[in-house]
This record gives sequence, C-alpha cells and structure tokens, in this order.
Amino acid sequence: MDDHKDDRYEETELEELEEKDSDTEDRKKDNSGSEYEDVCFICRRPESKAGKMFRLPNHICVCDDCMHKTMDTVSQFDYQGLLNYPSMSDINSGKGFPNISFVNLADLKGDGGIPNKQKPRKKRKAAAEIDIRDILPPHKIKQKLDEYVVGQEHAKKVMSVAVYNHYKRVATGTMDEIEIEKSNMLMIGPTGCGKTYLVKTLAKLLDVPLAIADATSLTEAGYIGDDIESVVSKLLAAADNDVERAERGIIFIDEIDKIAKKKNTNARDVSGESVQQGMLKLLEGAEVEVPVGANSKNAMVPLATVNTRNILFICGGAFPDLDEIIKQRLNKKTSIGYNAELRDKYDKEKNILSRVTVEDIRKFGMIPEFIGRLPVIFTLEGLSRNLLVQILREPRNAILKQYQKLLELDEVELIFDEGALEAIADKAMEKETGARALRAIIEEFMLDIMYEVPKDDNIGRVTITREYIEGTGGPIIDIRSSSAEHPDHLKVIQQPVNR
Ligand code: ADP
Repeated sequence: MDDHKDDRYEETELEELEEKDSDTEDRKKDNSGSEYEDVCFICRRPESKAGKMFRLPNHICVCDDCMHKTMDTVSQFDYQGLLNYPSMSDINSGKGFPNISFVNLADLKGDGGIPNKQKPRKKRKAAAEIDIRDILPPHKIKQKLDEYVVGQEHAKKVMSVAVYNHYKRVATGTMDEIEIEKSNMLMIGPTGCGKTYLVKTLAKLLDVPLAIADATSLTEAGYIGDDIESVVSKLLAAADNDVERAERGIIFIDEIDKIAKKKNTNARDVSGESVQQGMLKLLEGAEVEVPVGANSKNAMVPLATVNTRNILFICGGAFPDLDEIIKQRLNKKTSIGYNAELRDKYDKEKNILSRVTVEDIRKFGMIPEFIGRLPVIFTLEGLSRNLLVQILREPRNAILKQYQKLLELDEVELIFDEGALEAIADKAMEKETGARALRAIIEEFMLDIMYEVPKDDNIGRVTITREYIEGTGGPIIDIRSSSAEHPDHLKVIQQPVNR
C-alpha cells in the first residue's frame, strides 16, 4: 500500500526536473497535418508497414492489400450468382438482402474508429541526432542526482559513468570499428534504498522515456502473465508512441531476483529461467514487434517495430540471501591452509553485499548469458539512521520541506527537533522497508497538526518534539501574541498520544 503512496509523491518530487520537451514541439509542427500514422481499418497495420492507403470518407483508411481482398471477395460473391444487387431505394426501404444489414461507413464517426493512442507516430523526417557535446558529463549527472538522492555515493558514480558511456555509444554508433559495449546495469540493494528512485530521477534529468516493469509479472510467451516484450510496449507508451524516442529510452526491471532459476523443480520454469532466456535478445538488441496502445498482441491492435539496440536496460533486485552465498565463498577461501581464519569473520561485516562477484550471482540462480548482458553491476547500501534523517531533511523536495511549505501558507512556522527526526528514523528502521516507511510515519503524526492548526490564527510556530513522536508528550505550540491563552482545541494534540 505504501508503494502506491510513494509513487504518487515521487511524481511531484520529480516534476521540477521536467523541462520543456522541445522534441514534442517539433513533432507538433509536423506540417503533414496529423502527427500519427494512418492505420488500416481492416488489418490495423500502420501506413509504414502496409504501404499507401485508400482514403475513404470520415478518415477511414484501407490498405492496398485489404482493398484488393475485399474487391475479390465481393466479385466472387457476385460471380456465384447468389445475389442480385438490389437498388438503393430497396435497401433503404428494408427490402434489400434479408437478414443482412449494411453499415454506413459514414456513421462511423471519428478517425476511422481507431483512437490516436493506438497509432504509431510518424517517423520524423530528420531524426534528431544526439550530439556528444550535449550529453551531460558524469560529474554533472552525479551533481544532479545528489540534489535528490541521499547517500549511495558509489551507485550514483557508477550510474553516471555508465549512462554517459551509453549515450556516447548511441551518439556515435560505432567508433572506428570498435563497438562500444552496451552499459546495461544490474543494481543490487535492499528494498527501499532508492533503486527505483535513482532510475526515475536519472530518466527525468536526461529527459528520456522510462518504463518500469516488475519481473515477477513476466512469463514466457503463451503463459498467463505478461510477455517479456510487453516491457518494450510500455516504453513505447511512455514515449507517446514515438518509436524513435522509445529507442533511446530506459527500461527498469524491478525484482529481477525473482526470475532466478527455480531450484529443485521438475515443472517447466515459465517465470524463472525461461524469462531470463527470453530477455537475452532484448538486452542485446533486437527488433521487436510490439502492440501500440495495448499490452497484448491481438488482431485489432496495430503493431510497431522497435529496435532495442540503444535502449538502456537497468535491472534491480534485493537478492535476499545473496550475502550468505558471498560469505560462504569468502569463508571457503580463508578456511584452508595456515592463513585459515575464524568462520564467523564475515558475519559481522556490514556491507558484505559490496563484495559480490558474477560467480555469486550465478550461484543465486541467474544464468551466465543473462549476467553477461548486464556488464555494469553495483550494489546499494541499506540506509542507516543518519541517512534516513538526511532523507527527511535534505533532498530538494524533502518531506519536511513540503510540510513546512504547506504551513507557511498559513503563516505558521514548522520546526522539527533533531530528536524528533531521529525518533522518526528509528521507527522507520523498525519497519525494515528503508525510506519507504518515512512518509507514512510522518503523515500519521502530522495529521492532527494539519487539522488543528488552521483553526486558530494565533498560532505562530509549531515545534515537533521527540516526545510527540514517541507518544510521551505533545508538540510545542507558540502563540503569536504571548498574552494569548492556549486555546482548548490544542490540548488535543498536546496530550500524549498512545500509539
Ligand atoms: P527500492 O530500492 O525498493 O526501489 P525506492 O527507490 O522505491 O526503493 O524508494 C522508495 C522511496 O524512498 C522513494 O520514493 C524515495 O522517496 C525514498 N528514498 C529511498 N532512498 C532514497 C535516497 N537514497 N534518497 C532520497 N530518497 C530516497
């Protein structure tokens, strides 16, 4: 439930990064009238696939093939002499073919019945090339990430460099026959440490479309669940059906550890190893046909071809128990010979995940070909109490800043004691869901304040104390004119609350 809440707030948090998308403007100026391709009314293929269209009234288009097939069918029908064409007046007076009603194409209002969201956008004439000089250098990317994401220094650095290299590769295609390898990434870190948030922030600041998919919902084609290619379809939707923009986007696949090879199973592993196998060609670069405006292929949905060669894939997962595998490996290494060390030497090591190797991930259940296609592997650390306090206070759109702004509009100053922040962080640590818990906890405590304070114009300042968070006291309310009495309703929030 919290996840949804977080997502909602993230959107507002990241909105600031949004800049005017000049691309979109260009598209709108496309002088051929509509920015969407025409789609055949019968077979639903777009103009780029089916060729020139016959244009019928009311924006109905029919491709050459379908028009011919229709003509053939009609003439055959006639040839068999089964029917004599009735006159138009017969048809109108209901005397025409018994039990056959005619659809008047002109009654189908609108754009041939096919909504724009199901039409691929026209290819723009001059594809906007990426200029190497326009790509933000790694230190600038990291600087921007720093404004939003607290801690995770190593992850931010690795990502900035990988993204820089990736877009250099996109800009140049090949460099003197040396093909630059794709910088697909694998991020490993506990839940709520900022994996999704990092990717979202990155996509916004680079102004590229982003699709977020959950690996748990993916299955091999033909089984219940989403096809693997549906992730590309999502990206196309995020790019507003613009194939070229989608081809430079980012696909984030969360919970990637859930598609590890299933151990000890005789049944066909349709959501584990097969999904990894199925993803191989996408990760490397392939042409895939994806439905436009829907997430499953069927006869009624037009298809667009998307090349995944330049799409950046980022996979993320918590990989539970990976630390055990790492410890086992490290212990094995040190338990032989004279230098043998104590078996529990690594048990207390805090950031054991950062010692991960490809071998450990393979042992976890990812197939070597899959890991091979994610060359940039890095880990994120679990958030400490200090980092949680910083997350509350420091990012550009920190939760505290948002509440302070809200009360500022009522001309009330809101202060959080250092102790209160620590108490909130402690409560969040208990929940073991990283920074995810912070928002829910704060909301719970701020509800009374946000409800009671606007009742009274005399209130000038509210200070949230550790005691209030811990349920042993109330917040400190300062009245604008010191002579004023504490109004009755404030007692509600000044009494210790038992939570
Ligand atoms: P996960 O690692 O499970 O993908 P998320 O990225 O979804 O976690 O994090 C949940 C929320 O917690 C985010 O929306 C963000 O607001 C906050 N958050 C998590 N980590 C950080 C961080 N390092 N800096 C700032 N905010 C963070």
